[in-house]
Amino acid sequence: MNSKNDILFARAQASTPGGVNSPVRAFRSVGGTPRFITRAEGPHFWDADGKRYIDYIGSWGPAIVGHAHPDVIRAVQEAATHGLSFGAPTEAEILMAEEICRLLPSVEQVRLVSSGTEAAMSALRLARGATRRDKIVKFEGCYHGHADSLLVKAGSGLLTFGNPTSAGVPEDFARHTLVLDYNEPQQLEEVFRTMGDQIACVIVEPVAGNMNLVRATPEFLQTMRRVCSEHGAVLIFDEVMSGFRVGLGCAQGLYGITPDLTVLGKVIGGGMPVAAFGGRKDLMQHLAPLGPVYQAGTLSGNPVAVAAGMATMKLVQQPGFYENLGAQTNKLAEGLTAAAREAGVPFCADAVGGMFGLYFADSIPASYKAMMATDKDRFNRFFHAMLDLGVYLAPSAFEAGFVSAAHSDAVIAETVSAARQAFTRL
Ligand code: PMP
Repeated sequence: MNSKNDILFARAQASTPGGVNSPVRAFRSVGGTPRFITRAEGPHFWDADGKRYIDYIGSWGPAIVGHAHPDVIRAVQEAATHGLSFGAPTEAEILMAEEICRLLPSVEQVRLVSSGTEAAMSALRLARGATRRDKIVKFEGCYHGHADSLLVKAGSGLLTFGNPTSAGVPEDFARHTLVLDYNEPQQLEEVFRTMGDQIACVIVEPVAGNMNLVRATPEFLQTMRRVCSEHGAVLIFDEVMSGFRVGLGCAQGLYGITPDLTVLGKVIGGGMPVAAFGGRKDLMQHLAPLGPVYQAGTLSGNPVAVAAGMATMKLVQQPGFYENLGAQTNKLAEGLTAAAREAGVPFCADAVGGMFGLYFADSIPASYKAMMATDKDRFNRFFHAMLDLGVYLAPSAFEAGFVSAAHSDAVIAETVSAARQAFTRL
């Protein structure tokens, strides 16, 4: 126990369950001691022992302009001097709402909240309230935060209702959630044929990032749009991860599909707690104080958080931002793939905008089942080899990775050179 990380982890476990405030941070899946971070700048962060890492999680998505960007820090400092929270409206919230509505044509009105979980949970309640239907459809492998209705996995057959994935979620809630396979459009057709008039909404990650990276097929999303329209169900794109990460138009822009509601988080807060849900005005008008669907938040639209978000949103709109981000992410994916090939390790990688997936498999998985069949033990060894060499990847084989605008050619080259060594150690 010489490492400060070990000492902190032991202490943390005494006062906090598992020593962490969000489970994936605990390194349960890869084993070992989590790194306690002391500071971050650009593409790097440093742990309690003073070791520097190239960071490929970027706070799980928000740090798209790199850590501690001077414009973002300045905006936060400036906002903080005017007071931290008022519980009354501010002009900054209008500016943020106007910005989101301008960038996403599907969003006519938007409400700000403080976490992706809250945004997805509220979007679901709104869809149910507006349609007066109870059932929802989600997909195995997609994560939408930890609201009760969403912590549900598939039942034993296609038309059986879901089972809770967490203790504490009543079976009675789970039975309103239908869980289908990702990228299987015929399952959507079948479920809507059988019970279309009971389904309030379909919620999907249009580029999935919570089972590692899995792209939706255009046919899958097009079918979803069509059956929702035919049956009066609300189509919800959960773009908490993909929003302003895969491109300025988000995943809906890439695929050219217009959802009824969109859930946002991560990038729009630039590292501070801002998330949002928005979409068709006729749906949004069901929300309190106008309509009967209740939703509220003491810190919603918090002025300091919104300042960080707006500064970040300004930076991502600089000319060439996404071209550059996409190019760097592709360089990383290609560099890692080449390094694995040299070492004779079955491996592939994929990238969409500033998101990437690494797979210890012969081909890029297109489904949850294919993802589960990838070599998790090999990933875990690779993760630790890279960590030793100063590269911090997501501590699970089933999470996507994130590149920021601060990941320069030199940083990518350093990563690929570490990977060349790591692959030979597997
Ligand atoms: N939806 C998606 C697609 C996410 O990736 C996440 C978080 N990783 C959430 C919702 C939940 O967001 P939060 O952790 O801010 O509650």
